[in-house]
Amino acid sequence: MGPEMAIHTEVLIAGAGPAGLMLAGDLAAAGVRCTVTERRTGESNLTRAFAVHARTLEELDARGVADELIARGTPVRGVRLLGQGELSLGDLPSRFPYTLVTPQYETERVLADRARQFGAEIREGAEVIGLRQHGDHVEVEVRRTGGDQQRTVRAAYVVGADGARSAVRSAVGLPFPGHAVVRSVMLADVPLAEKPADTIAANSTGDEFALIIPFGDGWYRIIGWDRHNQQPDDAPVGADEIRAVLGRVFGTDYGMGEPRWLSRFHSDERQVPQYRVGRVFLAGDAAHVHSPAGGQGMNTGIQDSANLGWKLAAVLAGWAGDGLLDTYQGERHPVGEQVLRSSSALLQGAMLRIPGPLKAGRSAAIRTLSRVRPLASRMTGAISGVAISYPAPRGAHPLTGRRVGDQRLADGRRLYEALRGGRFLLVTPDGTRHADGLLAEHGETVALAARARTSVLVRPDAYIGWASDDPAADPAGALARLVHAA
Ligand SMILES: Cc1cc2nc3c(=O)[nH]c(=O)nc-3n(C[C@H](O)[C@H](O)[C@H](O)COP(=O)(O)OP(=O)(O)OC[C@H]3O[C@@H](n4cnc5c(N)ncnc54)[C@H](O)[C@@H]3O)c2cc1C
Repeated sequence: MGPEMAIHTEVLIAGAGPAGLMLAGDLAAAGVRCTVTERRTGESNLTRAFAVHARTLEELDARGVADELIARGTPVRGVRLLGQGELSLGDLPSRFPYTLVTPQYETERVLADRARQFGAEIREGAEVIGLRQHGDHVEVEVRRTGGDQQRTVRAAYVVGADGARSAVRSAVGLPFPGHAVVRSVMLADVPLAEKPADTIAANSTGDEFALIIPFGDGWYRIIGWDRHNQQPDDAPVGADEIRAVLGRVFGTDYGMGEPRWLSRFHSDERQVPQYRVGRVFLAGDAAHVHSPAGGQGMNTGIQDSANLGWKLAAVLAGWAGDGLLDTYQGERHPVGEQVLRSSSALLQGAMLRIPGPLKAGRSAAIRTLSRVRPLASRMTGAISGVAISYPAPRGAHPLTGRRVGDQRLADGRRLYEALRGGRFLLVTPDGTRHADGLLAEHGETVALAARARTSVLVRPDAYIGWASDDPAADPAGALARLVHAA
């Protein structure tokens, strides 16, 4: 890396975590020159996230890489709530009625391979340390990790996907308001001689909680917490601490063997007020953090990027207006807010101290919750992400802003297969092509195999951008309004 060498790229992404890699793949697939600068060198073997939910799998399916990831994980079709009633994911209206358990590095590997295949440049050992915004570009200061060699990269747009301590967020002067919600959470990767009955075993006494997640090879990730054993993050974790928590929470340590990795962390709940400042955007943990309860952080970050990628690509290609980029905030900030609320509620539930006689009441309430269909499907919709929808303009068709479900097309493909070109899909009752320039250039017209009377314009991120039951409606005009956010 030469000092002071200016490198020009259309989009500079800080951080090669799940959010940055997803975005890099989408931009590169759309023909955008993009560079990812990653502070780390070498692959991450850190396993934080393990749950990849249905909506994320759908987004990966729309990019042709879901099956590859599924082959590296274990589908889990139900989650037991605090050791009580099981919440079944089997009824999710998705091709993926489960949560995929796979280490975060597997997800990152699939996303990195895709990004590289499309020509994204991933530069390791390169840390963003500052930036300056100008009218039509951003200058980013990048330093070689651990050294003092530095250079300036010029980019049309910058995305901070650089995690909870985002340097990009600091550089644009955004606050990260919130607070710490749980301290001294222990992580351990251990072998267990006995397999827990539930694939993901979770329980809480109110004074302790523990979660056991299988890696699929006899090793398990334990997440444990003990109200009466609160230590700073850097205090070493002992195997006996993990055994003790398991024993108290599950009544057994499942024949736990020697851990190969132990760590301690704390969780904050924070969200940045703005996801965009001029030509700079934030995605993933750089924009929102919360506790791991519900397994939402990585999923939300990947979906932030699915939302931002096609918008940046369309604006850079010159066929969309700058206002489209503002819809990133309007659509993704409320989702982040909701995720903070739901993960907070789950964490509070796990940490709630309930006097002995009332414990039966809580157990009964959880069992009821998991059995009453509307309540259960609201919860699974939220956890899996399939219930996420975006605000629609006043008077819009009720489908506008909703996620599109996978369906068989008249030409034999699935709708999510047809999305793999990264273009808009116009689904019309008869598949009549629209000759209009924008639609012809940036979209494909298809028909469903089943009879339908609604025309639907599906965005590249598999959300419905416009719909109409009127055969004389004008989808080309709708697309033009959508990409100019008019
Ligand atoms: C115990 C635990 C369990 C979890 N389980 C789940 C789960 O099951 N499901 C789920 O969805 N989420 C889970 N999460 C959360 C999930 O791990 C994070 O939300 C996710 O990693 C965020 O992805 P990201 O790409 O935004 O950021 P990160 O993964 O933090 O990646 C940011 C990248 O940026 C790099 N970087 C940092 N600063 C700079 C800089 N200045 N310049 C260049 N590069 C930089 C970092 O090295 C890193 O590679 C869990 C978290 C924990 C702690």
